[in-house]
Amino acid sequence: MPATIVLKRGREEALGRFHPWIFSGAIATIKGHPQEGEVVEVHSAAGAFLAVGHYQIGSIAVRILSFAPCEINEAFWHAALLKAYRLRETLYLTNHPQTTAYRLVHGEGDFLPGLIIDIYGATAVIQAHSAGVFLARQPIAEALQKIYGNKLQHIYDKSAATVPFKAGLNAQDNYLLGATKAGGEEIIVENGHRFAVNWEAGQKTGFFLDQRDNRQLVAHYAKDKKVLNLFCYTGGFSVYALAGGAAMVHSVDSSQPAIALAGRNTALNNAAAPHEAFAADAFDFLSQCPASAYDLMIVDPPAFAKHQGALKNALQAYKRLNAAAFAKIAPGGIVFTFSCSQVVSKTDFRNAVFSAAAIAKRRVRILHQLTQPADHPVNIYHPEGEYLKGLVLYVE
Ligand code: SAH
Repeated sequence: MPATIVLKRGREEALGRFHPWIFSGAIATIKGHPQEGEVVEVHSAAGAFLAVGHYQIGSIAVRILSFAPCEINEAFWHAALLKAYRLRETLYLTNHPQTTAYRLVHGEGDFLPGLIIDIYGATAVIQAHSAGVFLARQPIAEALQKIYGNKLQHIYDKSAATVPFKAGLNAQDNYLLGATKAGGEEIIVENGHRFAVNWEAGQKTGFFLDQRDNRQLVAHYAKDKKVLNLFCYTGGFSVYALAGGAAMVHSVDSSQPAIALAGRNTALNNAAAPHEAFAADAFDFLSQCPASAYDLMIVDPPAFAKHQGALKNALQAYKRLNAAAFAKIAPGGIVFTFSCSQVVSKTDFRNAVFSAAAIAKRRVRILHQLTQPADHPVNIYHPEGEYLKGLVLYVE
């Protein structure tokens, strides 16, 4: 019998709306002694079954895996991953000649809180964000092998930096399938462009798959433009801008390995126009660059707010950064600006960008409002899952 979490009276309401989390404040009593990561049942104060989920000590106490009674075993993971796979089939991603990398499981967006799985060609990278998912990594890996067969050569678990530190799980990144792959790297294809992805050494699972569609839009606007790609990481936007016919591209990132990678990736795609990559702070780079040197800018910083407490400072940072970009963009130029902070709402972000435009005293119009691609779906009962916000702006 799994341990049972009994909610306070009236606190079952959120579950009625299929919200995938139980906060610790909603709990009246715990029957049994669940360990971190254990599967627990959730009951109402009146004793009715509500859901099954992973228990964890912290503000989010239970992450819901099922609203119907069920066992969380290999069959559960197989069925859940197969559903995720079927959706990516519908999106034409599982067998696409021009794109070999996609997100297979997007946490709450695939009704699997705590689990991220990215596919890079013949490699799957699993990232556990909860103790429960980390403890289930073997059945998850087995389910993946059942679904993909020999199309999958490697499964890499990269959870050391993402599982809750306090749970004391001693997580270490390693391969769950396949011997160590030389260099932990594969050349993937995205919309026909080639990228070296290193899941062992790279940021997150190795590549930011969530900008795939937005990179296409950059290519669309890049013809003959002088482009500045700030926070470039792998040079994703730079590669697309060059392919779209940019006159020249400058890429900026504070990380030296990222700069090396951006250079490698632009070379991999035989860029026709000149590309130069600078290891520099984006704020400094903007403050030192002459006015009107660029007519297309991409501003894609890391999440400035990782939790609610950091929201106010983050909004200031977005304002400062965008004001600096508006101050320098050539008249008639286009700015792609993004926020990937989950706690920054669409409205918050837009207001920060609005203030930035006013500070820079430029006339700014919104051309496009961007978000994450379809392989990062948003669970309608968990709107917080819509984390990527982008605006494409025309600056007079
Ligand atoms: N645009 C990228 C993803 C950006 S991730 C893509 O399409 O893949 C954010 C990047 O910002 C990281 O590579 C990080 O090294 C870099 N970074 C963080 N702080 C920075 C700063 N102050 N100046 C420049 N780069 C910074």
